[in-house]
Amino acid sequence: MKTPIVYSERCLLYGSWHIEGPQRVRKAQEVLREKGYEFQEPQPAAEDDLLLAHDADYVFNLKKGLVEDPDTPPYGNIFEFARLSAGAACLAAKVHGFSLMRPPGHHAGRNGAALGASTRGFCYINNIAVAVKTQNKPTLILDIDGHHGNGTQEIFMGDPKVWYVSVHRHPHYPGTGMVTEGNCVNYPLEADAGEKVYLAALEKALSHFNLKKVELVAVSSGFDTHDGDLASLGLTENTYRQIGRRIGAFGKPTFFVLEGGYRGEQNGKDIDQLLTGFEEKQPKL
Ligand SMILES: [Zn+2]
Repeated sequence: MKTPIVYSERCLLYGSWHIEGPQRVRKAQEVLREKGYEFQEPQPAAEDDLLLAHDADYVFNLKKGLVEDPDTPPYGNIFEFARLSAGAACLAAKVHGFSLMRPPGHHAGRNGAALGASTRGFCYINNIAVAVKTQNKPTLILDIDGHHGNGTQEIFMGDPKVWYVSVHRHPHYPGTGMVTEGNCVNYPLEADAGEKVYLAALEKALSHFNLKKVELVAVSSGFDTHDGDLASLGLTENTYRQIGRRIGAFGKPTFFVLEGGYRGEQNGKDIDQLLTGFEEKQPKL
């Protein structure tokens, strides 16, 4: 069975001028509808669930629209958009689906910009962190976005139940994730490193934790690693198919949450390849 796509058209209703704009998701969902995926409508996350990942004063300020930086504007009603995106990640965790929503989340730390980064990198609420916290199971978070998920690392650093594994471009925004620290495994790669180097790094990164202890796999699914996109590592549709196969081979309940990827039609094709590879290898659970 195909992985369900969690999606609401409401995520298209803000920020049309920004690179993190509606076109990246609108086009992707068109591609996935054509390919016959089933879609499910999310509900906003409860405020108590947001507080599992974020400080109360940050959530309070976000609600009031009092958070602003050069990357991450205080759009009208941004709290509601962010809450819906977090709720979609929570639904994806429940139904083992793919949350195709914006805003993205992995740069949002406990109190905003994370680990000394200058901005929140288009992120407001850390969607995958909220979903993992609500599930409260031993979890592997695999971050395949081209940028380091500094917010996710900050939230889960030292958490004995969670392993965070990221393969990303460096030097690049946000400038973190150069070394592995405790439960946070980081593999920085040079720009346009290419599929062979990427898949070898992924394999090494995945040797750092005990799969037997993992009950849930959460994938921060960014596609800005695609050749020519914002954090290009020179990857192709075939690379995402291979990544999907590797994730499927874990044989664990798995969900996916959209992060970056700024060319909508290509995002849709890459998501299809990732999920097709995943389904090829995922045993019946
Ligand atoms: Zn990114």
